[in-house]
Amino acid sequence: MSRVDSLLEVLLTLERPLLLALDVDGTLAPIVRDPDLAEIPEQTLSTLAALAEVPTLELALITGRDLGSLQRMERLQGVWRAVEHGGVVLAPEQAPPKRELTSGQREALDRFREWVDARAHDAFIEYKPQAIAVHVRAIAASDPLRADRLLREADELAESLGLHVRRGKALREAEAVRYDKGSALREIFDRSGARSVFFVGDDLTDFPAVDFATEHGIGAFVRSEEQRGTPSTSAKLLGSVDEVTALLSKLLERIAR
Ligand SMILES: [Mg+2]
Repeated sequence: MSRVDSLLEVLLTLERPLLLALDVDGTLAPIVRDPDLAEIPEQTLSTLAALAEVPTLELALITGRDLGSLQRMERLQGVWRAVEHGGVVLAPEQAPPKRELTSGQREALDRFREWVDARAHDAFIEYKPQAIAVHVRAIAASDPLRADRLLREADELAESLGLHVRRGKALREAEAVRYDKGSALREIFDRSGARSVFFVGDDLTDFPAVDFATEHGIGAFVRSEEQRGTPSTSAKLLGSVDEVTALLSKLLERIAR
């Protein structure tokens, strides 16, 4: 039996309602150099739309992107969303809350932004309501030493400004408020009334959610060239975005009939 088929069989034994929670980039959407160009394939979007309608499933997307950036990739109905690594958790069709930063937090982000303008202007930068993310994937392709140096500088500066540092694949993020995907997943689990959870992610930032899912169901991790390590839990492993896609469409076939 293939890796996908054996995972599917275990998945089908989980108690319902089942919370099916998925990271986006590197899990549903293939990784590309410019995160603005990443896409969830059409076929996957229609599988997700159908899964969202299954009465014994709760579907959730859990991403580091902010809501606007996620909405560029999907406009699904009936889906829970945790954006900004769990900074905002939204029930299906719930409007995003208003948030305010303190003047100290705003000032720290402004200082970080000045460093970005001076040193990392050619990196891919995400300005989120409570954080600034620096992606160095494109720089690493031509000048890996400089990419490493930028990540180190970002670490040091963010720490000295009292910002929380989040480390991901070719990514540093300086955050005014600290969250993680594990607590976001727990919140959705509690609010949705699900009895078990299945989560898939592909990055360091997904580990807390993989851990939570392993305790309450199954946590799975997509291995990649960039991320050779795996979570320290008994997480299930998947080999690629394609395997995640195959698993989801097989799950739909089995669960919807
Ligand atoms: Mg990811």
